[in-house]
Amino acid sequence: MPDSPLASGPAGPTHLRPLLDTVLTALHNGTAARPGPLPAGGPTTVTEHVRRTLGDPLPEHGTDDEEALATLVHLLAQGAADPADPLCAAHLHCPPLAVATAADLAASALNPSMDSWDQAPAASALETLVTDALAGLVHPGLRPAATALVTTGATEANQLALLLARETHAPAPVHLVTGANAHHSLHRAAWLLGLPEPVTVPTPTGTLDPDTLHTSLAQLPTATVLVAATAGTTDAGHIDPLPDLADVCAHHGARLHIDAAYGGTLLFSDRRRHLLGGLDRAHTVALDLHKLGWQPVAAGLLSVRDPAEARATLAHHADYLNADDDTHAGFPDLLDRSLRTTRRPDIFKIATTLRALGRTGIGALVDQVCDLAAAFARTIDSHPRFELYARPHLSTVLFRPQHISDPALAHLRRELLTGGHAVLGRAHVDGRLWLKATLLNPHIRPSDLTALLNLVEGHTSRSSR
Ligand SMILES: *Cc1c(COP(=O)(O)O)cnc(C)c1O
Repeated sequence: MPDSPLASGPAGPTHLRPLLDTVLTALHNGTAARPGPLPAGGPTTVTEHVRRTLGDPLPEHGTDDEEALATLVHLLAQGAADPADPLCAAHLHCPPLAVATAADLAASALNPSMDSWDQAPAASALETLVTDALAGLVHPGLRPAATALVTTGATEANQLALLLARETHAPAPVHLVTGANAHHSLHRAAWLLGLPEPVTVPTPTGTLDPDTLHTSLAQLPTATVLVAATAGTTDAGHIDPLPDLADVCAHHGARLHIDAAYGGTLLFSDRRRHLLGGLDRAHTVALDLHKLGWQPVAAGLLSVRDPAEARATLAHHADYLNADDDTHAGFPDLLDRSLRTTRRPDIFKIATTLRALGRTGIGALVDQVCDLAAAFARTIDSHPRFELYARPHLSTVLFRPQHISDPALAHLRRELLTGGHAVLGRAHVDGRLWLKATLLNPHIRPSDLTALLNLVEGHTSRSSR
């Protein structure tokens, strides 16, 4: 019988402490062993290194806790694309706050599961209070108040939004209407839920135009239409004109969902909250705190203005989790808060972060990265050898070296990746390919971004030689 200490219980912390020390040392050393934001060599090299270090993934006999942690944490850190590195800025992939990550450790140690009260007494109470408070930020001033469902991300939040619309209108089929700028997960959700083929409204300017939406809705049975708008597109950070779109929806009696996966946390910023005017008029709003909220994955939310509708749609009975007599005796029924059964207490790291930073603390981080993006855009705009797509709305900057073909630019991006030099994204807008810098790291400095430009410029002259 091997010595397999547990994480919880009276001795849990004592068992964890030396292992955490091993983890932190390996994180430190593994990160130091990676000279740049990601490992050099590209997929083949990295996979080979992992294969060699791992050896047999399912050994007949194990090593021990210390060895396994030291080896694999080092491997993971050395092979990471580290969003805390200033040159790692491809995706909505944030560097998590230390406080949120430390809180997540406690959640892992205690392992509450959010499918029944008797697995998560305090965690479930915390989830209700914190989600209600966050929903109050999205949908203020409602009686009864809004609530929010915790999801694995905006993909699941979008699915739930479509499900709520489908069930509310059943048996009539719900037509999803989105801009071409909408996230792909909405189309997948429509497919998953068996909805009719979504109507995609062209968005040549990058945002959903209210007049164009009006014309599209005029051709549909709008009592059963769900319009999905976007507050912060993944490619460019565009925010659809929400108040005007809400007016168009109200005029047609269409239901409105807003995918605010990226832009939603502007709500925390006194300087930028006005950019989300109209958000509160949506029936449902998707938010992702694992993007501009600095949480470790997963930290998604769906704010719903009508909690009764959500409860009725998700209501589900499983005697071992929510027997009627238990519910009548006052034990909360948690199954109507998710489609999942076993569920991590992802609200806990969020609750801890909100307490540690406060609304204004998070707002300041949001402002920091948005200001940084604006400054970076100005630098690019005044640079003789770079072209800027547009002034950023959020923290995404699209740019490209001048006089480079799309295939050469795509090649340049891969060269930066395989060299381990920089992680930049790509986006096709305006019929051209652009490099995408999604700035989510509040600690980077303007000089880091100058270094990034210099790096791209160096590779540009090399690839055009
Ligand atoms: C990231 C993103 C999603 C998907 O969210 P996940 O958290 O990855 O599931 C949906 N919509 C938009 C606009 C996004 O940026």
